[in-house]
Amino acid sequence: MISVEEALEQILSRIHPLGEERVGLVESLHRVLAERIVSPRDIPPWPNSSMDGYALRSADTQGASGDRPARLRVAGRIAAGHIAERALRPGEAFRIFTGAPLPDGADGVVPQEDVSLAGDELVVPRPVAAGDSVRPRGEDIRAGDVVLEPGHLIGAADVGVLATLGRPQVSVARRPTVGVLSTGDELVDLGSAIGPGQIPNSNTYSLMAQVIEAGAQPVNLGVARDRLEDIEARLSWGRGCDLLISSAGVSVGDHDFVKAALSRLGAQQHLWLVNMRPGKPITFATIPPAMPGAHAVPVFGLPGNPVSAMVTFELFVRPAIRRMAGHARLQRPAIRARAAEAIANPGRRRGYLRVALSAGDGGPAARLTGNQGSGILRSMVAADGLAVVPGDTTIAAGEPVEVILLREV
Ligand code: AMP
Ligand code: MG
Repeated sequence: MISVEEALEQILSRIHPLGEERVGLVESLHRVLAERIVSPRDIPPWPNSSMDGYALRSADTQGASGDRPARLRVAGRIAAGHIAERALRPGEAFRIFTGAPLPDGADGVVPQEDVSLAGDELVVPRPVAAGDSVRPRGEDIRAGDVVLEPGHLIGAADVGVLATLGRPQVSVARRPTVGVLSTGDELVDLGSAIGPGQIPNSNTYSLMAQVIEAGAQPVNLGVARDRLEDIEARLSWGRGCDLLISSAGVSVGDHDFVKAALSRLGAQQHLWLVNMRPGKPITFATIPPAMPGAHAVPVFGLPGNPVSAMVTFELFVRPAIRRMAGHARLQRPAIRARAAEAIANPGRRRGYLRVALSAGDGGPAARLTGNQGSGILRSMVAADGLAVVPGDTTIAAGEPVEVILLREV
């Protein structure tokens, strides 16, 4: 039996990042940046006013007070998007609006609500310091600054920054395509009635959704019957994908043909009994690509039980997809929570137990979502995360526990 960490290391050592492509700026949202973004300019490009008010020389207001205000001649006006006609001279103020560039000669702005006008004379009842209400050039970003690194997941603020830096297009990592195959004589797909002895196919759909959550594009390879030829044919259709996932049929039962089908496709296979619960053995293989010169196609044979399939996807397939997709961060974030009540892991294997999180006094509190059987999809539905509990261990109420977050909470 090998550890989750060892299995993941073996998998990741065989995963290669895909190439990159250029996309329009807004399309780059939620894609992975494939280039380093260095600013070609200062932002803001010149000092500008942060208030509606008056630009002035701070020296002209030194010692000003309500009794002895500074009196300045209003000699110009600068709106946003315009520049001053000339430099400010001593004893003068220019009317200025938010975002307008500071005129040469001025070093501060007094907000309009702090002053009064007497004819075209500005009455300033207090000293204004150099830099007051001014956004200096380069305050946000300086030319040459590294603003974003490759591997970064592009968010809304990043799109704004890229626009600021004048980038209508950006290089992002190619999105992997992932073929998803279900196997089993008992499975009935969406749209068909359930006959005697049959169960609905859910894995295809939960796994396709997880593929999308991981940032890749799923391809439905349908349901293969428990026949070698059927499994082989469908995996073979999927060879044009960047990665393949099948679920079920990987144990040592008489009807478990996935490993044999992989052999017929020329796969190099690793079968591991991984020290985790849920999750039976998982198979990881690489098969020769459809097109010569391409990378070998990684194939995951996940367990069939719906929860085991989802949990093994989270621990092994998701990081592999993210490595392919150029992500710098492969793992889901984990937090330290407190057990709201005892969390028991009676088995020898390390438990990944479904928990719901709520706000508690000492930080987030974790509570089991119910029956932890590997077929109980309802307890996955209610789960915010997976509590990681060593074998034969009970975490007492109030004790800390590591929780891998499965969604935003
Ligand atoms: P197996 O690994 O083939 O022994 O399957 C383990 C369990 O998972 C069995 O109870 C199967 O019926 C169930 N199972 C397998 N594939 C699916 C699927 N696509 N959707 C829902 N349940 C499945
Ligand atoms: Mg089966």
